[in-house]
Amino acid sequence: MKQSQMFIPTMKETPADAESASHQLLLRGGFIRQNASGVYSYLPLGYKIIKKIETIIREEMDRAGAQELLMPAMQPAELWHETGRWDVYGPELMRLKDRHGRYFALGATGEELITSLVRDFLNSYKKLPMNLYQIQTKYRDEKRPRFGLLRGREFIMKDAYSFHDSAESLDKTYWAMYTAYCRIFERCGLKFRAVLADSGAIGGKDTHEFQALAEIGEDTIAYSDQSNYAANLEMAAVLDTDASEKEATQPLEKVAGKQEANEQEIIAQAFKTRTETVVVFIKASDEMNDVKLKNVMATDLLEPIPADFNLMKTDSNVRVFADNGVKHLSQSVLYNKFEDVTYLHLDPERDLNIVAYDDFRFIKEGDPSPDGKGTIRFAKGIEIGQVFKLGTKYSEAMNATYLDAEGKAKPLIMGCYGIGVSRTLSAICEQYHDEGGMIWPKSLAPFTLHLITVNPKNEDQYKLSEQLYQQFVDLGYDVLWDDRKERPGVKFADSELIGCPVQVIVGKKASENIVEIATRKDKARNETQAVSLPETVD
Ligand code: ATP
Ligand code: MG
Ligand code: MG
Ligand code: MG
Repeated sequence: MKQSQMFIPTMKETPADAESASHQLLLRGGFIRQNASGVYSYLPLGYKIIKKIETIIREEMDRAGAQELLMPAMQPAELWHETGRWDVYGPELMRLKDRHGRYFALGATGEELITSLVRDFLNSYKKLPMNLYQIQTKYRDEKRPRFGLLRGREFIMKDAYSFHDSAESLDKTYWAMYTAYCRIFERCGLKFRAVLADSGAIGGKDTHEFQALAEIGEDTIAYSDQSNYAANLEMAAVLDTDASEKEATQPLEKVAGKQEANEQEIIAQAFKTRTETVVVFIKASDEMNDVKLKNVMATDLLEPIPADFNLMKTDSNVRVFADNGVKHLSQSVLYNKFEDVTYLHLDPERDLNIVAYDDFRFIKEGDPSPDGKGTIRFAKGIEIGQVFKLGTKYSEAMNATYLDAEGKAKPLIMGCYGIGVSRTLSAICEQYHDEGGMIWPKSLAPFTLHLITVNPKNEDQYKLSEQLYQQFVDLGYDVLWDDRKERPGVKFADSELIGCPVQVIVGKKASENIVEIATRKDKARNETQAVSLPETVD
C-alpha cells in the first residue's frame, strides 16, 4: 500500500488522557481512535492486526475441534430472565428496548444465547460433546473504562461453549482449550502465564486465567520460581488455608497499597473472633455484579444479608461483596449476619488491601509455594483469556437436557472459554514497544516491510522505490510504501510509531543503487545493493 493513500492519522504528542503505553501508542500510531468512553474504532492499521490475531485464534480453535458460528450481539431479555441474570448481572449489562417495548441485552457474554440455540438439538448423548465458538463484539458498561482497548465498554471477544454428557468429557475439552490458548498466545508472541483463578460472575468450578505479564496489569499473579504453580492472588489466598500457619499470622496485615480507616480496624477485630468456612470479600467499588445475595440460598449465613450486598458462593467458601463498601457495615451487622467469618478483603480500586484474617494466611512474596516446590513471586498480569468448567448451572436453569444411554433426561454439562481479542492487541503493545512506538512481532505486524522513500521528489529515489515495491509485492511481501512528500524527520518518526519489523530506506545513494535496511527493534542500519535486496530481505 502507498502510505500517501492510507488512513493512518499518527500523532506527534502523547494524548493527555491516555495513561498506559498501549493506549498512547495505539492512538499515536494511528491504529485506533476513540469514539466515546470505552468505545473505539479500529483504523486500517489496527484492524489488520486484529484480523491477524483472529486468524490465529480461528486456526487453533478449529484445530482443537471447535466450530465457528456467529450469534447476535442483541439478545432477547427473556433468555436472561430464564437464568435470572437479567436481574443479577447489574449495571454492567447494557440493555435496550425496541419499538414494541421488548427488552434486549447487548451481549456481555453468551451462555444464555448458546444454550437456547442448542437445547433442542443436543437431545441425545450420541450428539455430545460439541464445542461452538464465535468472535463477536461484546458490551459491558464498565464502571471505569480505561487503558484504551484494555477495558472497553464495547470490545471484541472470542467466546466458546462446550456441551458434554460427563465430567470426563468436559475435562478433556477443558484441557484441549487450555492447550489451544497456550498455542494462541505463544503465536501472538506474548509472555503469559496460565493461572488458577476464581470463577467470578460466570459461576462454575475449575477455571484458569491466561495472564499476559505487564506492569500495567490489574491482576496480581502469585507464582513459584521453581514449578508451574501460578494463581491469581485472590485465588492463591483461598488455596492457602494451612491451619499450621495460624500462629504465624498477625491480626492485621496490609499486603499492598492503601491506608486503612479506623472503621476497618474495628471490622478487623470483629472478624478476628470468627472461625472457618466463610470468606468475605468486601469491595468499595461497584464493579461487582455477582449474584445478588438475596437470590442465593445462604445456608452458610445466619440471616439474610441486606439487599445491597452482592454474594458469590463457591464450593468451599462464601464470599460477600458490598457494592458500596465498608461504610455499609457496622459492627452489629457483622456480628449478626455472619456465622463464620475469617477473612476480609477490601478492594476499593482493585488494589489489594487485606484488612483481617483469622485462620487464614495470605500468600506473600518469598513464601514457600503451596505445591512445596520453590518460592512465591508476584507479577502483574493482564487477563487476556479465561477457561471455565461451568457444570450444569445454565443448562439446569434453561432446561437444556439430553437423554443418556438409559433414556434418562439429564442436564447438559457445560464449559466456556473466552479470549479478549481487542484486549490481547493492547497486551501485545504493552510487551512490544519502546519510547518511539510499536515494535510488532513478525506474526502480527500490520505490514512486514516498510519501504521509505526519503525524498520522493528525487527521480532516482522514486524510481528505485517503485521498482523495489513492485518486486516485494511480487514476492508476496505485505509492504507499506512511504511515498509521501513529507520531511524525512516526519517519515522516520511515523515509521517508528507504526513499528513494522523491517524498514528499507531509499535515500541519497539511490543513484548508485544502494539502499539501507534497518530493523525496528535495534534500529541498526546497513547499506546494501538494491538489486539483491528483494530475495534476501527477511
Ligand atoms: P476483567 O476481570 O478484566 O473484568 P472478566 O473476568 O470480567 O475480565 P471474562 O468474563 O472472563 O472477563 O471475559 C473473557 C475475556 O474477555 C477476558 O479474559 C478478557 O480478556 C476480555 N474482557 C473482559 N472484559 C473486557 C473489557 N471490558 N474490555 C476488553 N476485554 C475484556
Ligand atoms: Mg469484568
Ligand atoms: Mg476477571
Ligand atoms: Mg475472566
